[in-house]
Amino acid sequence: MFHKILIANRGEIAVRIIRACKELGIRSVAVYSEADKDAMHTRLADESICIGPAAGAKSYLNIAAIMAAAELTDAEAIHPGYGFLAENASFAEIVGESGLSWIGPSPESMRIMGDKVAAKHKMAEANVPLVPGSDGAVTDVEDAKRVAKVAGFPVIVKASAGGGGRGMKVVHSEASLANAYSMCRTEAGAAFGDDTVFIEKYLEEPRHIEVQVLGDKHGNIVHLFERECSMQRNNQKVLEEAPSPFVDEETRAKICAAGVAAASAVNYVGAGTIEFLMNPDKSFYFIEMNTRIQVEHPVTEWITGVDLIEWQIRVAAGEPLPFAQSDIKMKGHAIECRINAEHPFKFTPSPGTVQLYHAPGGRSVRVDSFLYTGYTIPPYYDSMIAKIITHARDRQKCIRRMQRAIDELVVLGVTTNQELHQRLLANPGFQKADFNIHFLERWLNQMHL
Ligand code: ADP
Repeated sequence: MFHKILIANRGEIAVRIIRACKELGIRSVAVYSEADKDAMHTRLADESICIGPAAGAKSYLNIAAIMAAAELTDAEAIHPGYGFLAENASFAEIVGESGLSWIGPSPESMRIMGDKVAAKHKMAEANVPLVPGSDGAVTDVEDAKRVAKVAGFPVIVKASAGGGGRGMKVVHSEASLANAYSMCRTEAGAAFGDDTVFIEKYLEEPRHIEVQVLGDKHGNIVHLFERECSMQRNNQKVLEEAPSPFVDEETRAKICAAGVAAASAVNYVGAGTIEFLMNPDKSFYFIEMNTRIQVEHPVTEWITGVDLIEWQIRVAAGEPLPFAQSDIKMKGHAIECRINAEHPFKFTPSPGTVQLYHAPGGRSVRVDSFLYTGYTIPPYYDSMIAKIITHARDRQKCIRRMQRAIDELVVLGVTTNQELHQRLLANPGFQKADFNIHFLERWLNQMHL
């Protein structure tokens, strides 16, 4: 096992990883930007090193500074968290070449899954269902028209190197296809340095369902069931739950098997997530794999009892998974609400000093946060400031528990989206689990804000 791990991240995920290190008896090294001198992760870690100015590009994305910090502190492994460098295969390679362990999958797995066209080819080989569309890259407008006709409008033009909901265009008719196609290519080239695009049928009312997988270096890969992540705005998840209230036993067996097949196709090591879109008839299609830990991992931890960060670290150190698929059981229901420092309905960010912070508590409530009273939330990073997770015997009880937990939360001095969650949790459509990926935006539009 490692003696010391450097965490190349900030915020709640850095705190989550430092806590896991402490529980495993591993020393932790935090890296921080000049804006994060007083941040929770900087304070909680055994050692902390400043790696540059506030801007992420100069600190948390600064590979040279992070590698220097690892060398200076004799760290043996690097945990990248999510975001920043977590899906950067070149960084993973540099870490490995420097003789350090990368807490994540191999650079090869990351490269294939980070390139959507390459990933779809791999998935086709592994018999993982794909959204109907182009067979690989679409190289000219005529090709785009041919593919769109076969798939049927609406279609979605996607950048192969896209991510974070960027680089996608929905096209409703042939008249707007040529323009959307060339715009998507130009934008992808400028944003990702790769103008490869492909076309998929645009599914109109799907749910976003994802499968958590965990692999070790000895060829074992298991799944930890699915998560329902359809509550989104601007392709950003707002509330997640496990299991999905829409997925029945038969569909669960199928989608989880597809998740394991997808991970096996790239010899996956560590924690990863295979994202699918599911139609109202429960047919489902692979859209992408995230080769890292996800924000919403706690809901899976709670229904399975598996500490995902602990196992990311253990498998990176070479330990085999001690459980087989049949040992992993699901118990009860878990929900996560993402608390953001932003206006609950206008979504304008609200950085500033927290005058008072009081976290909810009580039975079966977990709070992953980096807030404390007197902390100043810097304006440079993600607006998520806390995750509240509840667990209960069934979904209805879990919702009630979340409602009382959200009501208990007090954050004074900055505006948060607490009221959005209060209203969403009370919404009959949410309570009946009658929703898809458009639910939240349609509901917000109806509010006429
Ligand atoms: P990113 O890597 O940018 O997150 P994804 O491929 O995961 O891109 O897609 C992000 C979101 O875009 C999905 O969760 C879904 O809401 C929407 N989306 C992507 N592909 C399709 C599709 N074929 N039909 C309908 N919606 C889609």
